Amino acid sequence: MLIPDFNTKARRHEGEENIKEALFYKQLEGDKVQCTLCPWNCHIAPDKVGFCGVRKNIGGKLYSLIYGHPSSVAVDPIEKKPLFHFHPGTKVFSMGTWGCNMRCGHCQNWQISRATADLANSDYVSPEQAIGMAKEYDCQGIAWTYNEPTIWFEYTLDCAKLAKQAGLYTVYVTNGYISFEALDTIAPFLDAYRVDVKGFTEELYLKLTKVRDFKPVLAAAERALKKWKMHVEVVTNIIPTLNDDDVQLSGIAKWIAEKLGQDIPWHVTRFFPHLEYKHLPPTDIEVMEHAKQIGHAAGLKYVYVGNVPGHPASHA
Ligand code: SF4
Repeated sequence: MLIPDFNTKARRHEGEENIKEALFYKQLEGDKVQCTLCPWNCHIAPDKVGFCGVRKNIGGKLYSLIYGHPSSVAVDPIEKKPLFHFHPGTKVFSMGTWGCNMRCGHCQNWQISRATADLANSDYVSPEQAIGMAKEYDCQGIAWTYNEPTIWFEYTLDCAKLAKQAGLYTVYVTNGYISFEALDTIAPFLDAYRVDVKGFTEELYLKLTKVRDFKPVLAAAERALKKWKMHVEVVTNIIPTLNDDDVQLSGIAKWIAEKLGQDIPWHVTRFFPHLEYKHLPPTDIEVMEHAKQIGHAAGLKYVYVGNVPGHPASHA
């Protein structure tokens, strides 16, 4: 359920700055800064933004341009994230913002993930207001989703602290490209980590996401599970000719089974032609079912087939 009137519920704070100093960065010579929020570790010159487009060097300090500025707010069933083994049947207050630290050619939400901070179209929603709206809409939790939550880290951290005080569960729906320092800061206030693993070779990740080294994605997911005891579920959108081969799929499935555990759910979701991959066909159902077999052969107990309505493996 979209919340069409969220702008009327949000109140722009008179005089409040639309920017917030970033938590993770280093000051360098010549008023440059290095952002350490995600493994890009962007070096950013004065008046420039990092790869995500929403962290700006202003006068030798790094600022988030999107603190409290959602692009999308909705109430979703938790299964839509998808999270199938975490508070099933509950409603989750879902928020997204602008920008992303990956550039996936198949992004379903490219209108927001590839936008810069479009503050003109987004009123300010304070963390207190966000938690209040979650309660008002009778949600049991709050999720940062639709685009990469890491890039409005400061906001999600402040919201997560309040959410835990209010008795709400908290969810990151993430591409997993986050530094350990940032993960360890928010982890005490985060209950679930729904992570995309898009492939299992550097070539695939570079082609699909523009990220060269995907090992930090795996390392952060392992850390979320083992060090911080978060609930973890993994999603792979299977794209014909890109990541539908056994090397990619077996690599992901074996990694989940060996490093996360055989009880961790793996959602394989069907691709439909989109954005830079409009020329590709939808994923064959046979390929989806083959991926499910690969998952089970690796030892996974729970492999779900997504974006195939009515498929017997489409629900828990
Ligand atoms: S969060 Fe943005 S600015 Fe910071 S390192 Fe990642 S891509 Fe670069």
